Order: sequence, then structure tokens, then C-alpha cells
Amino acid sequence: MEPEAENTNSLQQQIRLSEDNYYSNEADWQYLSVSQFKSWQKCPAATLAKLKGGWQPTSNPTALLVGNYVHSYFESKEAHEAFLEENKAAIFKKNGAERSEFVQAMNMIEALEYDDFFNFLYQGEKEVIVTGELYGAEWKGKIDCLNVEEGYFVDLKTTKDIRQGIWSEKYRTRVSFVEDYGYLIQMGIYSQLLEMKYKKPFEAFIIAVSKQDPPDKEAIRIDSWRYESELLEVKHDLPEILRMKYGEQAPRRCGHCEYCRKTKQLSDFVEVGELLDSRE
Ligand SMILES: [Zn+2]
Repeated sequence: MEPEAENTNSLQQQIRLSEDNYYSNEADWQYLSVSQFKSWQKCPAATLAKLKGGWQPTSNPTALLVGNYVHSYFESKEAHEAFLEENKAAIFKKNGAERSEFVQAMNMIEALEYDDFFNFLYQGEKEVIVTGELYGAEWKGKIDCLNVEEGYFVDLKTTKDIRQGIWSEKYRTRVSFVEDYGYLIQMGIYSQLLEMKYKKPFEAFIIAVSKQDPPDKEAIRIDSWRYESELLEVKHDLPEILRMKYGEQAPRRCGHCEYCRKTKQLSDFVEVGELLDSRE
């Protein structure tokens, strides 16, 4: 396991990312992650409020924990035990049995654990932190499984239903969970960061496992042309995001997210026809 990632930016005092500070507020200020980027795209005002510590979104801790339960299991025995210990109040009922969501998480684990193709693929270093400068920003990423020698990496994704189509305003069509959750951007950025660090190309794979009973699973590859428009979008949106992040421009409000609803003040009328506009 690599405890610390290399840091190339010498202009400012940057923290060296480690397992302990990867998700810290300080790290989020200094680095952009793909999830932070997506959050800026969705609502700059909410993202800045979150960064400044003035607001926390209501999250669904159980859904998040199920994903982490599965991830930690495939990271290492120690990581999984530490995860169970840390979250035992959420995982176990008073009688000591696991809550149904985590029984289901165990089913998801078993669906992969006894799969030869998965075991063949999921070999390499786990939870690897990678950083690098891309499009004028310093990025951080955490890779579930990195195989430097063979030039590929794998990200484990848990999702409700692998084959469910979701309407996307961005793509103006029905898309899979991969596009909907911005995983193309994530895989594209990670490939770039790895390529810069190791000076060779990397292929991205997604191992998806569903929360259905019994779980569905799929090993997913991505044709490289899909990254082009995604990375162009990152390049296009990034300058404004950085201006908003570092206080050179007031953050836009999306107008309808949890944060915007909470802090909303009426000031004008909207016409009926506008009600369905500009909705993610
Ligand atoms: Zn908003």
C-alpha cells in the first residue's frame, strides 16, 4: 500500500495526501476531486457553502455505507475490520445481527468473490491515491485497484440496477448509471493522471454490482472516444469553477437543490412555461 502520493506543485505549500487526510477539508480546498467537480457543475453555491463548512447536505448514510462496506472488503481484511468497528452502530442491530442492507451487501460481495473473471481482473494495489495537474487545477483521485504493470485500473461500483436507463438532460437521451453518475469523467480524469505519472496509457474498467436480490454484476469497458467530449467539458467548465472556488467570482445558485431551496428568497415571478426549464 502506498501511504502518500507524490505532489508536484511547489508554488504553494500543499499538503501531501495520505489515507488520513484524503477526505479532509484542507485537501478539498487544495485539490479538486471528480466528485467535487461534479458538485460544482451541479450547484456552485451549495459546493462553496459545503467547502466553507457552513452547510452539510442531508445524505443517506446507509446507502453510502453499503458501498463502503463492499469496497473495504475487497481492499483488505484489516480495512474491512476497521470499517466494521467504526460503523458498528449503523451496521448491527441491538441483537447483534446485521441490518438487512448489510446482509445484502454481503450477497454483493459473494457475487464477486466467487467469480473467477473478477478475481483475475481485480489484482493490483488497492485504494491508491493519485494526484496531478490537469487543465490548470491540481486533482486528487483514489483508485480502487491499480495494476501498473498491466496498465489498467478497476473501479468498483455499487448501483441499484446496472441496466436501468435514466433520462439525462446533459445527454438528451436515456443513459446508463455510468454516464448518469459522471463515471466517464471520473475514469477519463484518472486515466490522464495515471498516464502523466507512469508515462504510459492506462485502460479503465468498471466492476458493477447491483443492490438487487440476487445481485447482478458486470465487467464494463469503455471505448476511448467516450472520454473526448467528457474531458472537453471539464476543460471548458474548469476556469469558472476555479474562479468561484477561490473567491474571484460569486458562485451561481442552481436554484432548486437542497441548499438553494433552504436559502431561497422570492424576488420575482416566473412564467408557467419557465417552471420546467433548467432542471438537471
Ligand atoms: Zn443549488
